[in-house]
Amino acid sequence: GERSLVNVPEAIETVLALLHHKLGERIAVTRTFSGRPEIHCTPALLNQVVMNIIGNAADAMPDGGTITITTHSDDTCDEIKICDTGPGIPEDLREKIFEPFFTTKPVGAGTGLGLAIAYSVVQAHSGSLTVETAPGGGACFVIGIPRQAARA
Ligand code: ADP
Ligand code: MG
Repeated sequence: GERSLVNVPEAIETVLALLHHKLGERIAVTRTFSGRPEIHCTPALLNQVVMNIIGNAADAMPDGGTITITTHSDDTCDEIKICDTGPGIPEDLREKIFEPFFTTKPVGAGTGLGLAIAYSVVQAHSGSLTVETAPGGGACFVIGIPRQAARA
């Protein structure tokens, strides 16, 4: 896709506004934007990737919780990290979740395509998409976009 200079905090706020009804009152969102505000990327990086990861976090916390979004940059990489306070992802599922059509949601509730699409969008930026365990046991998705490739 076509890349342009995207203001990350602004784009994330737009995604959060679009997901407002899904997050409802039950989910709190904390943001700490300390990375470079602008990166070269396709609109899909924020619209599809960030939107799906935040949507999944909301699905994982039906009884409420907190989503923490942080951005961080160094000389080589811009990073967006999205953590939740849900149940987390069992070790044996960590690779499967990026496969097309893998879902643990009821029939009709999830296509299982969200993270597969996210993975390919991040790959198109020569970036990385990984999952970690949050300090409280929830899931933490980390999008890493190399600065060199992002400029290419
Ligand atoms: P879908 O949302 O349609 O199920 P995804 O590709 O977006 O498909 O996600 C695949 C699976 O990964 C989900 O069904 C769920 O089991 C797991 N998953 C993704 N994000 C989280 C999360 N934040 N917490 C717990 N499980 C998650
Ligand atoms: Mg999904």
